[in-house]
Formats: sequence, C-alpha cells, structure tokens
Amino acid sequence: MSRETADAIVLKTTEFSESSLILDVFTREFGKISGLAKGARRLKNPFETSLDLLASIRLSFIKKDSDALDLFTEAKLRRRFRPTARNYRGLYAGYYIAELLDRTILEDQTYPELWSLADATLERLQFRSSVEARVAYFEAGLLEALGEFPSIRGCVDCGEELPLERVDNLERGVYFDVVAGGVVCSRCRARARRWALVRTTIGALKALDVSRRGAKETLRIARTLDNWRSALESETTGLSTLERLDRENRVRSAFIELDEETLEPYNAFPRASRLAFRKLAEQYVCRTLRLRPRTLDFLPLAFGEREQRGEVPETELASNGADG
Ligand SMILES: [Zn+2]
Repeated sequence: MSRETADAIVLKTTEFSESSLILDVFTREFGKISGLAKGARRLKNPFETSLDLLASIRLSFIKKDSDALDLFTEAKLRRRFRPTARNYRGLYAGYYIAELLDRTILEDQTYPELWSLADATLERLQFRSSVEARVAYFEAGLLEALGEFPSIRGCVDCGEELPLERVDNLERGVYFDVVAGGVVCSRCRARARRWALVRTTIGALKALDVSRRGAKETLRIARTLDNWRSALESETTGLSTLERLDRENRVRSAFIELDEETLEPYNAFPRASRLAFRKLAEQYVCRTLRLRPRTLDFLPLAFGEREQRGEVPETELASNGADG
C-alpha cells in the first residue's frame, strides 16, 4: 500500500453505492487504474465535483498491492470537459475517445505520450472545429502507442514496397488485410485465401499516414504551449491584471494559429479519400478492440455528416448536445 498522486483523465464512472463511485481513470504516471471514490456522490465530498466523464484531474489515491481496488482519496480539477452548449460534435467525439482508451489501454502499463495526446485532444475538442481531423490524429496516435499501427508502405506478407509518395491517384484501389494489419501486394493476394481482405484507396492510406504525423504535431504543439504557459507565469508576476490578460491573449492566439496549421494536411484531402479513410479506420479500430465500440455510431454526428445530408435538423442536434 502506498500513497500516490497522478494527473488523470476520467474514462468511466459507475455508481457503486448510495454514496460512492467506482472510477476508471487514465493516469499519466501509472497508466489505467480503477478505484473506489468513497463519498463521491455526497453533496460535500473531497472530490469537489471533479469526477465527471473526461475531466482532467489531479488525483490522490492509495495504491493497493493486492487485486483490491485502489482507494481514491482526493481530486482537484485541472480542466472540466465541457464543450459549449452547441458543440455537440466535440462532446460525441470525446465519448468515442473515452471508450477507445477504456477498452485498449492495459492496467500496470504506462503510456505517457498517449496520455498527453488524449489530454491535448480533449482540450481542443472543446473549443475548435475540425473534429474529424482531431479524431483521425488521435486514432493514429493510439494505434502507434499500442504497437498496432498497420503496415501502409509495404506488403504485410512479403514486404514489397508500396511507394506511397510516388502514387498521385488518390482513387487507386489497394487491398488491405485488416487482421494481418496492412496492405497486401497482388502476388500475395493471389497466393492465399484471405477472409479479412478489404479494398481501400491510396487516398485512405495517405490520410492515415498524415494522421500519424498529425498526432506527433499535436504533441509538439502541446509541449510548446506548456512551455509558453510556464514562461508566462514567471514573466507576468508584478504586472497589472490588464497587462497580464493581454499577454495571455497573445499567447492564446499564437497557439490557436499554430494548432490550426497542424489540421490542414488532413482537411486538404478530398471528401472521397476521407470517407475511404473513415471506413478503413473503423474496420481497423474494431479489429484492434475485437469488438465494435458503441460510440462509433456517434461519429457521423460528431463530424456533422448526417446533418450535411439533411437527415437531422440542426436544432435537434443542438438540444442533444446541450442536454449532455
Ligand atoms: Zn506481398
């Protein structure tokens, strides 16, 4: 038994008793942990209503040596996940990210880069557009962190190179083995029967490749922002509130500009390539999780696709988002 503190993202909360909750959280320092938050459902409690889904918190807990649940003793809110009332897209995308993390990361294993990517992605989902690009970057970063990123530059069987950069026709078809985890050349395709073979396009593979780089860029910008924030803290001591606010606003605008640039490579793909990528990403995510995530059905709403096709009026979606 030991006392610990950690930065954590709340992935799942389950009512345990009249007054307590069981929580699954993803921590930067210890990976995934499940614990009992005694008294969390009481009005006055040591968690200060910080235990909402996807909240980013500073958690104190007692780590049990046995299989028993850890005991969460206190939590302070770092950032609530609360997309604005009309930003239902960010909300649905957040639920999807929570389910992916909850189902894939293992206990007793740490994923510091993935934690930072999740934290940065959730922060940005609250206040910016381009939800589709952010989800794509997160999925690519998750696959990378799990060691499941597929082979897209060479045949998964024989290794024959697929020169992705030199193929310009985004519509060109490619075969992809979802179970083996990568593209398959024509020779290997003819040689054996494959039951998990799907047809995708060069455009989809390029979007996946760009998403992997997008995940790295997101991390780089998140680190830059952290450095700016700490520099700002030391620089602005002694300044007036107005001067301080002005500096903060300038940092924020510079950050938003940098961050928007990282989304451009994905957003530049034609719609056909993005749709082919989504189809492949969904098949591959289901294969990695060995089941279909429930929240996958939220993604068309998160990306505004049904709305674009005129199936759901905007007002209905907006009220869903507002209700949480
Ligand atoms: Zn081959």
